Amino acid sequence: MKAAIIHAALDLRVSETGEQDPGPGEVEVRIRAGGICGSDLHYYQHGGFGTIRVREPIIPGHEIAGTVSRVGPGVTAVAVGDAVAVNPSRPCNHCRFCLAGQPRHCLDMRFMGSAMRMPHVQGGFRERLVCSEAQAIKLPPGLSIQHAAFAEPLAVCLHGATQAGPLLGSRVLVTGTGPIGALSILVARQAGAREIVATDLADAPLAIARGLGADHTVNMRADPTGLDRFHADKGYFDVVFEASGSGAALAAAIPAVRPGAVIVQLGIGGEVAIPLNVLVAKEIQLRGSFRFDQEFAWAVEMLGRGAFDVAPLLTEIVPLDEAVRAFELAGDRSRAMKVQLAI
Ligand code: ZN
Repeated sequence: MKAAIIHAALDLRVSETGEQDPGPGEVEVRIRAGGICGSDLHYYQHGGFGTIRVREPIIPGHEIAGTVSRVGPGVTAVAVGDAVAVNPSRPCNHCRFCLAGQPRHCLDMRFMGSAMRMPHVQGGFRERLVCSEAQAIKLPPGLSIQHAAFAEPLAVCLHGATQAGPLLGSRVLVTGTGPIGALSILVARQAGAREIVATDLADAPLAIARGLGADHTVNMRADPTGLDRFHADKGYFDVVFEASGSGAALAAAIPAVRPGAVIVQLGIGGEVAIPLNVLVAKEIQLRGSFRFDQEFAWAVEMLGRGAFDVAPLLTEIVPLDEAVRAFELAGDRSRAMKVQLAI
């Protein structure tokens, strides 16, 4: 079978790779759609991020959906032919965090398409993969495979909202309107936010953000003082979803939030400088948000009910054979929001 394989930075090849048989409690999924995520792009563009490096060939991809093609012994949750979204998280189910109901913090997590551990956990940009039946979430009738491949990033944003707490009536700032920021706008709107302001450094994603429900957008490159009007009277926003991973975005959000505000950090970056005096004096709650647990199943169900229209995010569907072009397109924020591979 064919797979997109990253050998090193800027060295992505579509080539043959080995197959696996599903064992007890496992299923084989014929992957049909795979969304390219920021972390996939980091592996491709830079050979990794931070201390996580590509040390052996890796198949990226963890935003995937397809149809069940084989089932191993004892599988009851799905059957051959079922359309499924694949949850890329495979926790151990017996460490202290798994037992405490926080499998996202599993001490032995196998997350698809991740170079965090060695050997790397291979991802989903391939024709077929084997996963546990718990990872194959059956799609509700009417949900397309392409929209189902948004379940993973949507789950990230639903978890971000879980971390934020109640959003009803809140004024929300979203910094960084790539796919995670854009989906966070949809989630905040669904959760009853009163007003949503979004920032980015590019106009194209901000236009999409307005279409998704942002009331006001600011291009911080063209208008670096665009948030200044929210500084008065100790700040304006109740909740921030920081989806850029940029220290500059976080620093710009801090004077714009009211005392007691919650900042949910979704974007991953390195070390950043923040004014601790302001954080302390305004009692700002800075909260990390990492992946998701039960929110993946929520995402599939809610996409199936039409609670979120992800269609405006889907820039282009590119055949697997053109994976290099797909990755180049996905890296161009002036043209791309979410690029998917058709596998
Ligand atoms: Zn565990």
